[in-house]
Amino acid sequence: MVAENEVSNWLTEYDRDELVIATLCSHTSLQIFDGAKKEGFKTLGISVGPPAKFYDAFPKGKPDEFFVVDNHSDIPEKAEDLRQRNVILIPHGSFVEYLGPDNFEKLQVPTFGNRKVLRWESSRIKEREWLESAGIEMPQLFKEPEQIDRPVVVKFDGAKGGRGFFIVKNYREFEKVNPTQRYTIQEYVLGTRYYLHYFYSPIKEDGYKLSKGILELLSIDRRDETNIDEMYKLGSQEELKKLSIYPSFVVTGNVPLTIRESLLAEVFDMGEKVVEKSFELFGGIIGPFCLETIVNDELQFKVFEVSARIVAGTNPFISGSPYSEFLESNLSTGRRIAQEINMANEMDRLDEILS
Ligand code: AMP
Repeated sequence: MVAENEVSNWLTEYDRDELVIATLCSHTSLQIFDGAKKEGFKTLGISVGPPAKFYDAFPKGKPDEFFVVDNHSDIPEKAEDLRQRNVILIPHGSFVEYLGPDNFEKLQVPTFGNRKVLRWESSRIKEREWLESAGIEMPQLFKEPEQIDRPVVVKFDGAKGGRGFFIVKNYREFEKVNPTQRYTIQEYVLGTRYYLHYFYSPIKEDGYKLSKGILELLSIDRRDETNIDEMYKLGSQEELKKLSIYPSFVVTGNVPLTIRESLLAEVFDMGEKVVEKSFELFGGIIGPFCLETIVNDELQFKVFEVSARIVAGTNPFISGSPYSEFLESNLSTGRRIAQEINMANEMDRLDEILS
């Protein structure tokens, strides 16, 4: 863990007119570099091994410079070098995943957002504690498999990217699978999925006000998931099982969405509750976050996950979304992050948005 005043100490050594936005070359890096450049920053792409050639194909999304390391595990020891370059790191899903939340938490480089969120987000138990204590409706949890009385999704601990999930309709089916790894069992919520991309700013004052700062909705997507999304084309799941084809939820892409306008009040209410509770639990979730939700036919939301940083579902919105357009044109989440850093820098409040 980085000590409370450490960031302020690092920043005293920084040339604040020459801040550099850096991230790991993966996930949402094109968007982050493009957004940072549009806001006037220099950019640095941390590349494991030689930089991917496709950056040459996208000059506006290519970082000004690459910082090449042999392995992800080499990044922590480069911290001083990165600080000497006035670097602010932008976390994204792959960055945290490849480094591991424990190592990411300890990285000795100023990082956008509050790294204390990692403890609350990387454990399914803590995540549920946070969301439910905020008053968010989640899929029902089944403590014992014997209690299964409806379709459920069984999630192995550490399952990522939709791999390591399976659906069973009753206890008998569960017994047949007989999992040997640790797992949690959740009610399978039938409905349509909406991945809501929020941005919380502790320093901006105009907008949807919270007890401190404001909440924005930048975009909404739905993930393309294989093979579950396309299975219906082959027939019923029972028939498919006979062919040893089982549903999986591996993410392959993202589709832009809007939601019924009347549901927006609830969308903001949920975001507000999650942010307000985060102040109390760990000092606040700062910047972009995503609530992964399912809406049923009674128009009720259930939230099955929170991601506490920029999500890949924001990638369809490099030139803005039907929601960010109401804030300003061409506003991606990557660009919004850069704006927040600029704004905090001008107000001399960088320590409030970095950790
Ligand atoms: P996750 O890794 O938690 O983001 O979940 C991967 C995918 O599994 C989601 O994108 C949903 O399609 C599906 N999923 C997860 N939890 C549930 C649930 N409780 N009910 C229905 N589908 C779910």
